[in-house]
Amino acid sequence: MSRVIVMLGPPGCGKGTQAKKLASHLNVPHISTGDMLREAVARGGELGVKAKASMDAGVLVADRVVDAIVQERVAQADACNGYVLDGYPRTMKQAEFLQRILDKHDLVSFNIQVEDEELVRRLSGRRTCTAAGHIFHLQFNPSTRGNVCDKDGSPLIQRPDDGEEVVRKRLSVYYKDTAPLVEHFRSRPRFHQIAGNRSPEEIFKELQSIVDQE
Ligand code: AMP
Repeated sequence: MSRVIVMLGPPGCGKGTQAKKLASHLNVPHISTGDMLREAVARGGELGVKAKASMDAGVLVADRVVDAIVQERVAQADACNGYVLDGYPRTMKQAEFLQRILDKHDLVSFNIQVEDEELVRRLSGRRTCTAAGHIFHLQFNPSTRGNVCDKDGSPLIQRPDDGEEVVRKRLSVYYKDTAPLVEHFRSRPRFHQIAGNRSPEEIFKELQSIVDQE
């Protein structure tokens, strides 16, 4: 039975990092709605222009827009043996939509928990590489080459929505729209609560042992 893994948790909890590692461990695609929306913004079409305004303000893009992007992506051949969802679903409507398109897959969900002040520290110091999305942090994980990615030499930028004010807005949107979703998943089988105030390596070890036993 193929699996769909849902990574839940507030912005900055580390779900993107863990989702990538899990996807590569399981050899399935990592599907991040944030990344797909940022790609649409970079392409500059109608969808990108609309999404950019919401993203820059730290509010959610409309459910029907995100649902359509996910539906198209999971229908691709590489997703037939399962996938890891990162940043989706984020509302009850999206969770209901996902349930309808799940087909034969089993669903496993992880909720990574981190304190608010730690999230603000992580996100406002985060720097992202423009070529491949490698993640650094000004204090906790600086690039050895200053403002340049030490993996591929591309410039590092602060995501427009990682400034402190927008981060606080994203957190308030998370508590209003997405936190109720966590309760929905908590009551289902195969939900796992994960402490996020540890090193990425420690967290991954725990996730890996859970998915290997599931
Ligand atoms: P992320 O990279 O997951 O932090 O997402 C960045 C931004 O993209 C969010 O603040 C939203 O504006 C938008 N976004 C990403 N995923 C979703 C989603 N599932 N539903 C609505 N908006 C989303």
